[in-house]
Amino acid sequence: MNLPSNLLPAHSLRQRNTLGFAVEAEFAIHITEAKQIAEAIAYAKDRDMPYQVLGSGSNVVLPDALSGLTLLMDIAGIEIASEDAHGVKLRVGAGVSWHELVIWTLGYSYPGLENLALIPGTVGAAPIQNIGAYGVEVKDYIDSVEAFDCQTMQWVTLDRAQCQFAYRHSLFKANPQRYVIATVNFFLPKQWQARISYADLHGYFSGNEHSSITPHAIFNAVCAIRTQKLPDPKQIGNVGSFFQNPIVENSKLTELKQRYPSIVAYPEDANHSKLAAGWLIDQCGFKGLRAGNVGVHDKQALVLTNPGKGNAKELLALAEQIQETVRNRFGVDLVIEPIIFS
Ligand SMILES: Cc1cc2nc3c(=O)[nH]c(=O)nc-3n(C[C@H](O)[C@H](O)[C@H](O)COP(=O)(O)OP(=O)(O)OC[C@H]3O[C@@H](n4cnc5c(N)ncnc54)[C@H](O)[C@@H]3O)c2cc1C
Repeated sequence: MNLPSNLLPAHSLRQRNTLGFAVEAEFAIHITEAKQIAEAIAYAKDRDMPYQVLGSGSNVVLPDALSGLTLLMDIAGIEIASEDAHGVKLRVGAGVSWHELVIWTLGYSYPGLENLALIPGTVGAAPIQNIGAYGVEVKDYIDSVEAFDCQTMQWVTLDRAQCQFAYRHSLFKANPQRYVIATVNFFLPKQWQARISYADLHGYFSGNEHSSITPHAIFNAVCAIRTQKLPDPKQIGNVGSFFQNPIVENSKLTELKQRYPSIVAYPEDANHSKLAAGWLIDQCGFKGLRAGNVGVHDKQALVLTNPGKGNAKELLALAEQIQETVRNRFGVDLVIEPIIFS
């Protein structure tokens, strides 16, 4: 690749962040092959340029101007690496759309990913926060991740354990800037079981014959529920849930339940429960609130929005106000889910 001639100076990222902020990258480059990652990182490091990596921008809050080099991850390709009676291994490029991969797997009768339908973003970003929805996390299907280690300037293949996946977390999120993911290898087992215990899905299928609950039926159910509940970034800028659901000790939940009997919580493990962050925010009266050019969605308090002219500064000020109010009222800290670029 002739790197300098592929650099896009003063490149607008407005179409590449789902908040729809007007953002300009000092230089951007489309990465369509794995080897270009090493070249781009070496180029930036040689010139002491900062660099950052962007998938489709559905989980980032970007400032008005991004200095240095922004790698736009566009590596395509879904390959069947191997298949036997136990399952199939897929090798997927970082730039493939996550939802397109889910559709592809179901089309080839490889179920497993259906609960994760319609999550925006690229395959390469899926391991970063271990995307999850409707009772399933992507970590259960990741076999390994192939990434360029920008610290050692070497290629690495990390197995599932090495990726240190946790709730909305991973080795990659813990070490921002260190790994650029080129390929994700998935293992989808042949043995399939419907996972519909999550309240919305359970409700959707209540009264159905168990045999009618197919992977396609779950896919359709998830798409229908999500479309109804979450705002479409094409209509109004957003990054989905702006805060993680806080995990608290069971003793804290008991204390909160005495004061707020209708509090929404789910068991996490023997000693912990997960609180619905949306409920906490809603109780503080933020749902539907407009603060200058940004706001809180009127149907889902967990989603902060940019109706058109907002920017990162305004959105983060609103997020801070929400965090402070929830902390004062419930004694619970809300952690921001998207990655804040500076
Ligand atoms: C409407 C809506 C609903 C959502 N629902 C969910 C949900 O149900 N569950 C959920 O988990 N998330 C959800 N999200 C968040 C988002 O879809 C996911 O986090 C997604 O994986 C982000 O993908 P992306 O390509 O847009 O990543 P980006 O936003 O571009 O990047 C996110 C982070 O990953 C890094 N990154 C991206 N690609 C790579 C790469 N190849 N190598 C190294 N680092 C990389 C970036 O540097 C950044 O730190 C939702 C978002 C929206 C807008």
